[in-house]
Amino acid sequence: MTKKILGAAALALALAGCGTKKEAPEMSAASPLASLEAQIRRFAPTEITADGSRLTPGDRRALDRIIAAARLIDPLYRRQVWADNEALLARLRADASPLGRARLHYFTINAGPWSRLDKNEPFVPDVPREKPPGANFYPADMTREEFEAWVKTLPEAERGRATGFFHVIRRGPDGPGGKLKTVPYSEEYREFLGPAAALLREAAALTSDATLRNFLAKRAEAFASNEYYASDVAWMDLDAPIDVTIGPYETYEDELFNYKAAFEAYVTLRDDAESAKLARFGGYLQELEDHLPIDPHHRNPKLGAAAPIRVVDVVFTAGDGNRGVQTAAFNLPNDERVVREKGSKRVMLKNTQRAKFDHTLVPIAGVVLDPAQRPEISFDAFFTHILAHELMHGIGPQTIKSGARETTVRLELKELYSAVEEAKADATGLWALQYLIDRGVVGREIERPMYATFLASIFRSVRFGITEAHGRGVALQFNYLLDEGAIRVDEGAGTFRVDFDRVKEGVRRLTAELLTVEAEGSYEKAKALLDKYAVIRPVMQKALDRLGGVPVDIEPRFTLARETPAP
Ligand code: ZN
Repeated sequence: MTKKILGAAALALALAGCGTKKEAPEMSAASPLASLEAQIRRFAPTEITADGSRLTPGDRRALDRIIAAARLIDPLYRRQVWADNEALLARLRADASPLGRARLHYFTINAGPWSRLDKNEPFVPDVPREKPPGANFYPADMTREEFEAWVKTLPEAERGRATGFFHVIRRGPDGPGGKLKTVPYSEEYREFLGPAAALLREAAALTSDATLRNFLAKRAEAFASNEYYASDVAWMDLDAPIDVTIGPYETYEDELFNYKAAFEAYVTLRDDAESAKLARFGGYLQELEDHLPIDPHHRNPKLGAAAPIRVVDVVFTAGDGNRGVQTAAFNLPNDERVVREKGSKRVMLKNTQRAKFDHTLVPIAGVVLDPAQRPEISFDAFFTHILAHELMHGIGPQTIKSGARETTVRLELKELYSAVEEAKADATGLWALQYLIDRGVVGREIERPMYATFLASIFRSVRFGITEAHGRGVALQFNYLLDEGAIRVDEGAGTFRVDFDRVKEGVRRLTAELLTVEAEGSYEKAKALLDKYAVIRPVMQKALDRLGGVPVDIEPRFTLARETPAP
């Protein structure tokens, strides 16, 4: 599975870019309109755009075709979510009352009548109380047991389709209660995929970039053939001014089995400055590994090749890529054959992260941070730390020895692994940036901002709970650094500040502790660390209670895409 960074998982994603993307709620009881408006206000409307003037004339025209193709992903995805979505949307569009308009607005945010931030509670009357767990990938009257029994009767190839990404399950001509069968996406969604493929082919003919042309042509082919392997490989090789992800990818919408891929589109432009920064940091990975604050025999003398990371600005997103909480980053593809052969790629959506920073992190800092340190909050420091976090997943212990046995940190730490690994990436990211600042590789001007911004971002992540890896990981770091005296609390004001005299040493000790737990593969030590620190203490809860008015996320308005004429 991918981890939309927080894969569709929850907010995970947290700010960080890793992980999941759901965030949870808090609601008030009031009139239906007032309560709906309160739900909508959690998403701050935000212009999202990128600089299209850098593109060559051919690429600029290709971009228009790609956006037009991506627009077709919205109705396709709505149909995947629920069979009656399009009929309901038509009804909502016809209702001009204030309540009707609010329902339409919130329907658009959720791509359906269930509020994703509120455990899928319905916000439109006369729809099922429960969002169908199998979405529209399976017949509405099919049970889990029926599916499983049917799959057992199938020959191997057909079983692969039944449990694979790219076929829906339908009933045969004998109607309700009839025999189950698989239908390829290419057939089920032909009315959308046919025109989308034509637009992608037009775009392929317009661009002068060979890697983009290759991806667009192969993906257009996949929309007709239902064979996605070759175009996933082409996507791994894609490195162009226009960066596109379009197709069936994540399986979170299929809550019944997590088998079926939902369609999404990310039309973006590559950020060359950030890409250069990444490449520069990438050149220091071995040196950082060689200086990690752990017993030298735990260090890896020869790191493997790092997975590619792209930094991009969003022009337009659609489908599963634009519902509920916005994706800040993602890892694709999910097809294990491609991952085995070509690896996977992480794409970080910089302008989306900037918008989240402006609309959620800055207001949070205004509540929880000591007023003297609020001016230190900086997007540059924030994003640089996110890049460092991603790179740090690639260093430190991975394959380890337990006695004579070779194993991995993931296997040994089991369900505790994600929380420890996320905390490690954060802490080691701070440690690594400090190392690079001290050697003049990174400018001293981000030193204080990086710590102050990280402190504020902790509150953004734990706000959505500590049941998920990122929230747990940051709660652990917060309490550890508080006990180290690296974070100070003003109990009267309920605010926090970084102690700049103590923070370097506190982060170094925390990094050492986390890396050592990983190097030893010690489940017991990981559990002890999490039990002690990955909790919400009263001092933190009090601060969280004061964040009610801060938006949860953004609602993007795609400026550049709006200016794009229909081809
Ligand atoms: Zn991470």
